[in-house]
Parts: sequence; C-alpha cells; structure tokens
Amino acid sequence: MNFFARFIFIAFFTVSLSFVSCRKAEAARTELVFGTVCTVNAFDDGTTELYNSLFERLHSMDEKFSTSKSNSEIEKINAAAGKSAVEISDEVLFVLKIALSFAEITNGAFDPTVGPLVKLWGINTEYARVPEQWEIDNALKLVDWSRVKIEENKVFLPVEGMRLDLGGIVKGYAADVLAFMVKEAGVKCAVIDLGGNIYVAGKKKDRSLWRVGVKNPQNPEHSTAITLSLPENSVVTSGVYERFFIKNNIRYHHIINPKTGYPVDNGLTSVTIVSKSSTACDALSTSLFILGMEKGFALLKQLERQNFPTAGITVKEKTADSTDGMGMWLFGSGAVNDDGFENPVKLTAAGLPFVEKAEGMADCFNALYIDSENYMYSTEDLKKCYGMS
Ligand code: ADP
Ligand code: MG
Repeated sequence: MNFFARFIFIAFFTVSLSFVSCRKAEAARTELVFGTVCTVNAFDDGTTELYNSLFERLHSMDEKFSTSKSNSEIEKINAAAGKSAVEISDEVLFVLKIALSFAEITNGAFDPTVGPLVKLWGINTEYARVPEQWEIDNALKLVDWSRVKIEENKVFLPVEGMRLDLGGIVKGYAADVLAFMVKEAGVKCAVIDLGGNIYVAGKKKDRSLWRVGVKNPQNPEHSTAITLSLPENSVVTSGVYERFFIKNNIRYHHIINPKTGYPVDNGLTSVTIVSKSSTACDALSTSLFILGMEKGFALLKQLERQNFPTAGITVKEKTADSTDGMGMWLFGSGAVNDDGFENPVKLTAAGLPFVEKAEGMADCFNALYIDSENYMYSTEDLKKCYGMS
C-alpha cells in the first residue's frame, strides 16, 4: 500500500467527515501506529492534551502487540516457543483470550497462531514471495490455536516455530480503548480511524447520522462502494486490497486460510462488519472473509444468541479467570487493575465481546460483503443505512 496515497485518502476522508459533523476547534491528529495511518478527530473537544494521551496509549499498545518489534510481548512469547512460558500483561492476555474465543467459534478459520504462515508469505514486507508447497506444509503444522497454553499470566507455545499474530484483532481492540477514553474525557463526538478500522463515537452536534464510506475494492484509493449513514458504531473492513502482492497475474493478499496455508480465494473482495464493538468487528471481518458468505451470516446469527451480558467482575479480581483459560471468563467494563490497565470491553460468558445494539438497529452485528464482480450482499439492518456513494 502506497503510504502517501493512503495518507491523502485518509486526510481527505477525515476532512470530509469533519465537514459534515461538529465544528472543529483544533486539527485532528494523525500518526503512524500499528504500521498504518491512524487518525483521531475529537472535533470541538480535541485538545493537545487529549490527543497526547490517546496517541501515547496507541503507541503503548503497538509496543506490546507488534510482531515486528523483537521486544514486544507477542514477540517474546514467539521467541520462547517450544522452550518456556512467558509472563505477559493483563492487556495482552485479555486480547489473546478474546482471539482464542473467536478461533473456537469460527472452528479455527480465525486463528491467532497463524503467525508462521504470515511470516512465510511476508505480505507487505520486502521479502514477500510465493512459498514452496513443502514450506507451507511445514508452517501449517505449527498453526493450531488449541495448543496455546495459558496459566495465570503465563503463555506457552509448545512447539518451536509457533507464532502468535494478533494483527486480525488488535486495531479493533485499540479503537474500543480509544472510544472508551474519549468518552471518559467527556468528548461529545469523535472519529477514530486506525488504518481504516473506524469508530464513530457519540453524536454529532447537528444530531445527524455519521457517514462512513466503504471503499470500492476495485479502486480503493479513489472511490467508495457505498456510504453508510449510521448512529454510533464501529465499521471495520477486511479486504484483498489492503496488503498484497501480485505474481503472474495472481493477487496474494494478507488474510490466510489456516486450513490451506494460502491467502483466502473465495471470490470475495471485502467484508465490512458494523457493530458497537470494534474488537468484535475486527475479529469478525477477518473471520467472515475467511468463512465466506453462507457460514459468515450463520455465525452472525449464532453470535446474536450468545450475546447476553455478564456480571461486572473486574480484571482486578483474577478469580474470574477459569483454570483452562478458555470459555468461562468474565471481566467488567472499564475496570482498572494495579498496572493501570483499563479494559473497556465487556465480555459475554463465552469470552467474546458483549455488543449492545446500536440505536435503531434490530441486530447487534451487521455485515456487508462485496464480491469480485462488485456485487454487494448485506444484512437487512444495514440496507437501511445505505446512503449515496
Ligand atoms: P487489516 O489488518 O489490514 O485491517 P485484518 O483485520 O483482516 O486486516 O487482519 C489481517 C491480519 O490478520 C493479517 O495481516 C495477519 O496479521 C492476521 N491474519 C491473517 N490471517 C489470519 C487468520 N486466518 N486468522 C487470524 N488472523 C489472521
Ligand atoms: Mg480483522
């Protein structure tokens, strides 16, 4: 992805969003975090102090979750694979457990241990290439979310070469953290855009709906497939156009099918998820892209049924952790523990983000699929949000 082109697109996008919403007191801030362009616009309430704290938090999450920084917590776990367990922060543990819950409910289509395949393909790096089949076969043997061992705050990958990669969920989690922070700070409305992982928070001054464009996968830098008019929500898209390379006229992109070891090739070009949890949106956009349309829509229905609230047990009370680290573990909303970790994401008993219905929506989760012929398929609620492109 051309950085400059992307920057211009996002700058334009942000400016146009600000144009249709509150009057701006100070410029929005844009920085490079998570290897992508991240912009926050808190409009009238956007102070330097606020932007400093938001971006400090973003950079701290990047430091913990990065797979390209050797001293990140994720890379420490990866380096110790097959050797020893690594003690990690509550925050990384929290996100890892959510990722594992998504792995469970998607039957491993979403798999946070996909790291060996991600590394092998090297999409978006200077060593990107089509691997030999034997290399893919070897990497496939190292991909299995059910082998991740968690004991208290220690994580162990039992086989050398196994690698965690939370790239399919961490920007969503970070957007939820930022949305929580801007609300705590009393900000009335904000747009959080972490490399296209969007959260539109609060209400615009004129009370009109937010308008969020979904890129046209055929021409992502210059046109939108559709514009969604929405109340507060997160909007997250996974697409073949985000990070990819082309060899012999074949496009190899960054979302890998953990069963085959190859980039997903099912005729879809993008999947957009809309819900009030960006963590869920991010994990689900990647998951539904891999699962394809039929299984994806079925999964959304299943999630609606699982989406019951839980008691407000805080992170501080570690008793909430189950012994096997999976399934029944509960956290309250916005809890702060001794390390100052604030967790804004409420979880269901299944360890998945609890998602409130957005105003005027009948369902918690909505999806928009675009296929290679640019046909669009979406849940009923979302059709009501279609505006002019
Ligand atoms: P983006 O990061 O571009 O917003 P996604 O949220 O769809 O897009 O995440 C893609 C990233 O997720 C990849 O770059 C990789 O780090 C990771 N990933 C790739 N395949 C899988 C998979 N099957 N399960 C979980 N994560 C994956
Ligand atoms: Mg994702």
